[in-house]
Amino acid sequence: MTVRVRFAPSPTGIPHIGNSRTALFNWLFAKHYQGKFIVRIEDTDRKRLVPGSQEKIMEILDVLGLKEDESYRRGGPYGPYIQSQRLRLYQKYAHQLIREGKAYYCFCSPERLAKIRKEQQKKGLIPKYDRHCLHLSKEEVEKKLRSGQKYVIRLKVPDDKDISWSDLIQGKITINTVNIDDQILLKSDGYPTYHLAVVIDDHLMKVNYILRGSEWISSTPKHLLLYQAFGWQPPKFGHFPLILGPDKSKLSKRHGAKSVLDYIEEGYLPEALVNFMAFLGWNYEDNSAILTLEKLVKFFDLSHIGKSNPIFDRQKLDYFNREHIRRLPLTELAKRLKRYLPADYPLKGDKFSRLVELCQPRMTNLKNFLSLTEFVYPQKIVEIKDLTKYLKAAEVREVVKSIRQRLAKVDKWTLPSIKGTIEKEMKRSGLSRGKVFMALRVAILIRPVTPPLFESIALLGKELTLQRLDVALNRN
Ligand code: GLU
Repeated sequence: MTVRVRFAPSPTGIPHIGNSRTALFNWLFAKHYQGKFIVRIEDTDRKRLVPGSQEKIMEILDVLGLKEDESYRRGGPYGPYIQSQRLRLYQKYAHQLIREGKAYYCFCSPERLAKIRKEQQKKGLIPKYDRHCLHLSKEEVEKKLRSGQKYVIRLKVPDDKDISWSDLIQGKITINTVNIDDQILLKSDGYPTYHLAVVIDDHLMKVNYILRGSEWISSTPKHLLLYQAFGWQPPKFGHFPLILGPDKSKLSKRHGAKSVLDYIEEGYLPEALVNFMAFLGWNYEDNSAILTLEKLVKFFDLSHIGKSNPIFDRQKLDYFNREHIRRLPLTELAKRLKRYLPADYPLKGDKFSRLVELCQPRMTNLKNFLSLTEFVYPQKIVEIKDLTKYLKAAEVREVVKSIRQRLAKVDKWTLPSIKGTIEKEMKRSGLSRGKVFMALRVAILIRPVTPPLFESIALLGKELTLQRLDVALNRN
């Protein structure tokens, strides 16, 4: 039997990275078993739709490399893959349940529902529909329908029944129906609720594994009741542990969790995001292992998804990003950096490649490159800082000045000649190597954190190096 899983986002906004984990886990599961990964757009909650979010959700899949097998844009045998284009189906099935006595029309006004809710709350009861319309006679129902009264269709939920399933991740779960309302299946605008649409679609699209976040556990008994009502074989269910923020509450944008697209904008690699997301719930021998999508497909399984809640840790994301940056071939890294650099970036060709090589071990994200290499901008000369943070004014005058003079005499501006000259002068001064280097770094390369000193000076060229040393000497 082919594994068929689905990612079923609601286009109600751009999901944060934690939500994209659901897509990743489903995709990995499908690919591990050579199955199919289906994307279905669940857009039945019309009030919450956010224009443009559907496209962004698809863009996230593209960026991460999670290619779908079936969707509205790729087609497939069980379309349409957008719920708002399937309304007739949901209506047909809802009416079938009515005919079979498993669901009923409810004509109660929102005012009446609000009133009973209030009364129940006052008594300390969990709000639940009081089944007023379940007891209407056939004639009463027909009369109301004929007169065009607005209605919803509700599921007859059995009283006090245990609904159980063996969850692939959480183990056996049992939930009693006592607190489950007679679910609305079809709304008065003819749109289905999530519960009806999800069950019909998962069945018709032959989805056999439903893998989603734990926030959906309380919906599962409702879905199982619907499978029963339709006489359909339910799929297997697995609920991933919730991702928590550092304060142990459910991860949200408030914790700084952004969307995959935001992280890309900040200079994170898709490879790093994938690696990071995989360990938000799934465990491997070593949860800091650097794994590509290919490797993840090979190793991924549900038995290594625990029940304990993973904590979202930004530093870990930085760690994965650094590691993946280090592993990129130089030409690839250079290519990817282009997006983050202004068109007038001064270095090109071989010099640019050399600089990329120097920065590769020092970058946490691709945006860092620009700040690490600010020194390549000739005009940055004016920003030279105070060197007395590192050396006394007299020492600056002595050692920086002599280095400047010696460097001016260097004919061939090569790494060995620059290194030799500076090392020699520094030794002669008897000053601490660390301090002199810092002073030179700030004077010539503008910032205290840069690629290696001598290599950078070699790249910068003689003229700019001497100019900057002159400015530094004038100011100190
Ligand atoms: N449309 C639901 C969501 O927004 C899908 C939930 C499910 O996977 O059943 O996440």
